[in-house]
Amino acid sequence: MPRGQKQCPSCDTFVATRVSLCECGHTFEKKKKAKKPTINKQKILERLVIAPKDSKRVFYKREMKHLNELVDRYSLEFMNVVNFYRQFDSLAYLVSSKLKETLDKKFRAFNYVVDETRYPEYNIRAKSGKDRVVEKKRKTLKDFLDEK
Ligand SMILES: [Zn+2]
Repeated sequence: MPRGQKQCPSCDTFVATRVSLCECGHTFEKKKKAKKPTINKQKILERLVIAPKDSKRVFYKREMKHLNELVDRYSLEFMNVVNFYRQFDSLAYLVSSKLKETLDKKFRAFNYVVDETRYPEYNIRAKSGKDRVVEKKRKTLKDFLDEK
């Protein structure tokens, strides 16, 4: 398709992307921009750490710094779903080198799953033409992240 143009589905004419009404009378629906779900960092913190009874403000301010550090290292999407089956007293624990390897591993798994969903699935059995049964074990994102 030529750059900056789109094809009218009813007359196949190429028209400028901006055009909302084709000469043939076809009306182009405006594409609704997919809204990115907003990720609430505070919610991430509440999920991952146990806040003390007192001085929550100071606590969350400090924890937010740690979270931002982890978001820089990995991604916000990742931090939003990563699961440890427990809450920490502080994200300092996650930032530390102690858990870096575990986190790196989870992150790689996370990226692997995300990438995989972008591409259409191949039917290996149909293409190879062999009798071998390919057992498909698709792990869900949750499986990966729950792995310890
Ligand atoms: Zn048209």
